[in-house]
Amino acid sequence: MSALAMKPKAQMGQTEIVARVVDVNKSFGTLQVLKNINLEIHKGEVVLLLGPSGSGKSTLLRTLNVLETIDSGEITISDELMGQRVTAKGLRPLRESRIAEQRRRTGMVFQQFNLFPNMTALENVAAGPIHVEGKSKREATAAAKELLAMVGLPDKGSNYPIHLSGGQQQRVAIARALAMRPDIMLFDEPTSALDPEMVKEVLETLVNLRRDGMTMIVVSHEMSFARAAADRVIFMDAGEIVEEASPADFFDNPKTERACKFLGQLV
Ligand code: ADP
Ligand code: MG
Repeated sequence: MSALAMKPKAQMGQTEIVARVVDVNKSFGTLQVLKNINLEIHKGEVVLLLGPSGSGKSTLLRTLNVLETIDSGEITISDELMGQRVTAKGLRPLRESRIAEQRRRTGMVFQQFNLFPNMTALENVAAGPIHVEGKSKREATAAAKELLAMVGLPDKGSNYPIHLSGGQQQRVAIARALAMRPDIMLFDEPTSALDPEMVKEVLETLVNLRRDGMTMIVVSHEMSFARAAADRVIFMDAGEIVEEASPADFFDNPKTERACKFLGQLV
């Protein structure tokens, strides 16, 4: 059966492709972690990336954000000039300015929030625009205030991370990523480190982002979110994309033994 059985919604319309991954391979030493990965993410699409621990989900997100280089293949974000390309002829040199631009276009949110502990929430959100993009402090701060309001934290700007709950810290981290006006947001288990009562507020933020048209890849095992907010599920196992389907098809009617086994282990 074709792993691409479900047509992405863009094939039916004219949606542009925001991220394209072509024949990407990546090894750590002798362990091949990404095996010939091919992927197209369309504008406004929310893709849920699922798979057992160690299947390569984080590594895939990290290559999109250039936190990892690839061994071969090609990754582009929004246009052909932006990204990593490695061919038989070798690595196309990635200029620092290109790496910075690709990082700007791919907003990454980690399991462990990773806020700057010595900065307030507002300073965390404004830091990228000021220090990376050279925006004025005034302009960056005004934008940061709007973003904090958008993630439901209009009155927490002067709090340091230590004085915010985990759910609030994660929402600041989302606002910080949004401050760089990314083309795509990459979420790597954004709620796994949170107490159950805080999971909802973070997932609601993702749902709001989706409603605003943000393109996203989300690694999450939150099934309610997956069913309600994902346009497409991509299931990885041992470095390969094994299945690709709508959430309803994937959860109710998985096609491969590996997906059945994975779903059987989820509680
Ligand atoms: P997942 O996010 O699906 O749990 P990862 O992408 O984190 O999987 O890891 C895939 C595999 O690559 C795992 O076997 C992991 O141990 C290995 N790995 C990840 N990062 C490194 C690294 N920096 N050095 C060596 N091995 C790594
Ligand atoms: Mg991971």
